[in-house]
Amino acid sequence: SAKDQGRNAYCFFEPSMNQGAHQQLAMIQDLRRALSLAQFSLHYQPKMIAPSGPLEGVEALLRWHHPEHGTVMPDRFIPLAEKTGLIIEIGRWVINEACRQLMAWREAGHTVPSISVNLSPAQFRSPGLPAKIEDALTRYGVPPSSLVLEITESTAMQDSDTSLAILQRLASLGVRISIDDFGTGYSSLLYLKRLPASELKIDRAFVRDLVPGGEDAAIVSAIIALGRTLNLSVIAEGVETESQQRLLTELGCTSLQGYHLGRPVAADDAAARF
Ligand code: C2E
Ligand code: MG
Ligand code: MG
Ligand code: MG
Repeated sequence: SAKDQGRNAYCFFEPSMNQGAHQQLAMIQDLRRALSLAQFSLHYQPKMIAPSGPLEGVEALLRWHHPEHGTVMPDRFIPLAEKTGLIIEIGRWVINEACRQLMAWREAGHTVPSISVNLSPAQFRSPGLPAKIEDALTRYGVPPSSLVLEITESTAMQDSDTSLAILQRLASLGVRISIDDFGTGYSSLLYLKRLPASELKIDRAFVRDLVPGGEDAAIVSAIIALGRTLNLSVIAEGVETESQQRLLTELGCTSLQGYHLGRPVAADDAAARF
């Protein structure tokens, strides 16, 4: 069958592969059943208050455990989930699961100040989102300020009047907004000033090759200054080395996230750390 053919290619979900139409279709079929087959899980990565903690919160990152292809990373399937609208139901599961896990940790005596959830563009723009978030907060008894919604700067910038209205509606629930991958989305300062956000997350691209006195260091400094001016906390993502951590701290970046501080891990392994 067409499906078997698609599965013959063991590199089916490999990023290097230019997916043919029928392989995409097979992936969509699998993705459609993934929720009911309980193939998703969340991994959690710490957001640390620099340089050595305490924990500021954790970010929930989606994983798809495919019976044949193993663990599939979000960059491989989120775009397709977006295109097919499946992201709405998957995203709802993510919000509920993150809220459930946060309260389970707290009930077990762990101090986890906040949980961050990523929202993709279609999910962000879906009219039912605020109600779903409210529903999850109520169902699990999550204090709204303990939930952080991460929206990329480009998502927030696209159709900015509509986005602003959605962000205001979400912020009115008492949840916090983080602008993810910041520095890559060309926000105007005027727009940023109006955003009801509480955090800017410096994109990994500015952290990767960070050296003292370099261009990236100047950009990081500028983002930190902007955050101070607008009263937003600033966190750097993708911190992989001790020297990046040291330089970011010297530049005044108060919060850090990255492999150097902690990789994304399953809930039980995460709990062992806090
Ligand atoms: P993101 O929100 O910017 O998340 C950061 C990504 O960088 C994560 O990849 C994380 O595992 C990875 N990362 C963290 N620290 C480091 C580091 O030090 N070095 C490097 N090289 N990478 C690091 P992941 O988990 O593969 O997620 C990729 C993207 O997929 C996320 O980017 C986010 O945009 C999206 N995503 C993840 N989970 C969800 C979800 O539940 N819903 C939606 N809509 N999108 C999600
Ligand atoms: Mg994120
Ligand atoms: Mg990011
Ligand atoms: Mg990203």
